Amino acid sequence: MRVISTKKFHKEALVLSTLKHSENCSDSNDHIAAAPAFWFIFKQDDMLLQTIDHQLCLPKFTNLFFISSAQTPLYLGTYEETPCYALEIHEKIHREINWPLKNIAFHALKLTSIFQNELLWCMASRAKQRLFWDKMSQFCGYCGNPMIHHKKEPAKWCNHCNKMLFPRISPAVLVLVHKNNQILMARSHHFPDGIYSILAGFVEQGETLEQTAHREVYEEVGITIKNLQYFGSQPWPFPDNLMIGFFAEYEAGEIDRDPIEIEDAAWFSVDNLPSFPNPLSLSRRMIDAFVANQ
Ligand SMILES: [Zn+2]
Repeated sequence: MRVISTKKFHKEALVLSTLKHSENCSDSNDHIAAAPAFWFIFKQDDMLLQTIDHQLCLPKFTNLFFISSAQTPLYLGTYEETPCYALEIHEKIHREINWPLKNIAFHALKLTSIFQNELLWCMASRAKQRLFWDKMSQFCGYCGNPMIHHKKEPAKWCNHCNKMLFPRISPAVLVLVHKNNQILMARSHHFPDGIYSILAGFVEQGETLEQTAHREVYEEVGITIKNLQYFGSQPWPFPDNLMIGFFAEYEAGEIDRDPIEIEDAAWFSVDNLPSFPNPLSLSRRMIDAFVANQ
């Protein structure tokens, strides 16, 4: 199999790294300028988008002070040199709002083609993860006092015991195990009917990504793997994951699935694959890349 280039990812990551974390993060709305900004507004797993000339776009508002949301808007950085904010609202509030833009509606984040733009996917992921983390970190885990947004870091701070808390990211490894032109695919009990994917598992504390790959494959299907090859990574904000993908060659063993985690697992040749995961996911990109290289 040819080595799959990851140049595209590196380029886009470089652009994202220029995002400026704010010196003006705070617990008040005072920092929200009266200039136009991109707003990443969520209703559960759906994001507000505007349709212009049959194309979905990010909505740009001057400010949204008229929304009475339970959460303070969160500053995210800049996208295309424009400030970005994240906000979560509830369905009832959405229906009551007289939005200052036409043709806006909520769309499923993980199913909407606009997010095939990887940089935009990263920003939307940051928005959704930051909103989740903001709710989950209201109080200090050490002393129980309320946390406040740090003035200079994308973090929270307890002014009672002086502890800092940075946003939580939960890494998980994806492994595409291959044997000749076959891919090992499995389905969990919670997958939609007929859908199979490559194997996945969370990284445990004190474990390298490679160790996770070997352990998860062995635990889930009882086989050993060799020659891991890094493919790429992807933020996956459901709710706070970072997916890291590897290809691996089959080494030894017969499929012996863990019945609690895995409903079914089998080898599939590339010309007879089952139904895939959704096209925005890293696992789907890995399957597509493997098939294209056969
Ligand atoms: Zn504290």
